[in-house]
Amino acid sequence: MGIEETARALAEIGFGEVYLRRRVSVDKRKLLEEHFNSFKDCTKCPLHKHRTQVVFGDGNPNSPVVFVGEAPGEDEDRQGRPFVGRAGKYLNRKIEEVLGLKREEVYITNVCKCRPPGNRKPTPAEINACFPYLKRELEIIKPKVICCLGATAAEGILGKKLSVTKVRGKTFSYPYDSSIKVLLTYHPAYILRNPTADRDFTEDMERLRKMIR
Ligand code: SF4
Repeated sequence: MGIEETARALAEIGFGEVYLRRRVSVDKRKLLEEHFNSFKDCTKCPLHKHRTQVVFGDGNPNSPVVFVGEAPGEDEDRQGRPFVGRAGKYLNRKIEEVLGLKREEVYITNVCKCRPPGNRKPTPAEINACFPYLKRELEIIKPKVICCLGATAAEGILGKKLSVTKVRGKTFSYPYDSSIKVLLTYHPAYILRNPTADRDFTEDMERLRKMIR
């Protein structure tokens, strides 16, 4: 049993709850910081040529859910944080209204950590080049659920092409850790362009709320 499982098991029987939870939290933050520092100057794929900065994941490393998007857009590239533009505001609202959580209480990241020029979709080669960084991020956080926002995130996480309109709301197992569930839904930017899809997205968030209880 690893330190996280031991901490959780002891906390469940009321033993040293505060102390152990704080240690787990500190360790994960430290590990993430070390991880991000290891690739902040990455030039593994052509996206490095156009970025202002590498955009790391953001939020609570003890979150039961990790939201994974496609890649940083213009606002994210400038501010160095994922999902800070209009799509991010929509996502924050749903996290609050449906999950009953604040943005800082969950963890949000992207499949590609650098902004593709003109906000184009990252290529499969760029997704593959960047995936080991996301894989390590998820290994450190070990959430209950990975919520893929859009087809690119789903392709990166599951390693296969999927039509989100056909499989949204469905759950899969994460290929690198079957104890982690993967839920697929639309990218918030898609909802902004197609407001009628808001109902489906809300339904998926309700499903997610039950999964992370
Ligand atoms: S997108 Fe990922 S692999 Fe490509 S340069 Fe940025 S950090 Fe490196």
